[in-house]
Amino acid sequence: MLKAVKVRLYPSNEQCSIIADQIDAARYVYNRSLALRKFAYTKFGIKVGKFDLQKRVVTLKDREKTAWLKKADSQVLQQSISNMDKAYQHFFKGGGYPKFKSKHHSCQSIQYPQRVKIENSKIYLPKVGWVKCKGLREDVVGKIKTVTVSREANLYHAAILLDDGVNTLPVCTSTEAIGIDVGVSLVAADSNGGQIKPLDLVRELTKLRLRAQQLSRKSKGSKNRAKAKSRLAKQNLRIANMRKDFLHKLSLQYAENQGIVVVEDLKIKNMTKSAKGTEEKPGKNVKQKQGLNRSITQQSWGLFFELLEYKVIARGGRFIKVDPQHTSQTCNVCGHVSKENRLKQEKFVCKACGHKDNADVNAAKNIRDRGIHGSNASHQTAA
Ligand SMILES: [Zn+2]
Repeated sequence: MLKAVKVRLYPSNEQCSIIADQIDAARYVYNRSLALRKFAYTKFGIKVGKFDLQKRVVTLKDREKTAWLKKADSQVLQQSISNMDKAYQHFFKGGGYPKFKSKHHSCQSIQYPQRVKIENSKIYLPKVGWVKCKGLREDVVGKIKTVTVSREANLYHAAILLDDGVNTLPVCTSTEAIGIDVGVSLVAADSNGGQIKPLDLVRELTKLRLRAQQLSRKSKGSKNRAKAKSRLAKQNLRIANMRKDFLHKLSLQYAENQGIVVVEDLKIKNMTKSAKGTEEKPGKNVKQKQGLNRSITQQSWGLFFELLEYKVIARGGRFIKVDPQHTSQTCNVCGHVSKENRLKQEKFVCKACGHKDNADVNAAKNIRDRGIHGSNASHQTAA
């Protein structure tokens, strides 16, 4: 079973510059190979294969102009071409066309396919040497598949992909189903009545605004501006990591305890597009939808569902997406559908039978039932 471990690296100044050289070299061969492949195809209809591109790197190193590529580990360069090739395969399967890598992208990385060693809180990277690191636990054992070294906001990390030799995760034995409603006022409500409050980021977001303000006050080209910029980037990264961590934990909690997890098929992207409407037909409730969109982006429901699906299936469970229509207006007890059932954001009172519930919990129960009865399931995956 593949397992990823992320650790913080503390390279010396000298090591930083070797990593920087390798990042430049890897990006260079990536872009050059991509350009060649594009050119050969559009101009002559020739497809240049991965191995031909990898062989070309050797020739490039022998040329005076590109001899600087020798500063990089040769496998890092080969891997860069492999990754470009993978981006191409992804494109053939319907993904976007591979993009050129920009020098100005906030996160830069290189990948080692082999020959990386780990020893008491140190990691050996070819060409760079032994680098100090934090976060390496003793249970990090197994065969190293790849190590991705990244630099973002002047922080260095290594993402280590390991094969731990264990074949499966403990199977979740529960056959109980749960529905999860992702709402606006709450992060998530489930059909068991569980309500999970959003991650409180007020302090972090205030700090982010402060950092942005500080940056805007520094004069262009100054050293202090560079410092302020790096502080702002660090804060952005911190918030993104807190969100990711939160969603990982939340999805794991459901995956470990529930055999069947049902969510709405939100088609989040389409919702985002339709909010503004067209010129002739301005969207209804634009303001309300924009608020909802902001909230969706903030909580990253897309990522949450992805993590959830992956974790549920890895434990032998079933993950079901159902049609979201009227889930919030339907009474879970008698089935009566009415807009008036929902009094306020959080209160549900059925006009027909008088059933009262938290609105999001009522919706979560409808979602669960649609998943179990299957009639409304629009998409499902199972192990
Ligand atoms: Zn009712």
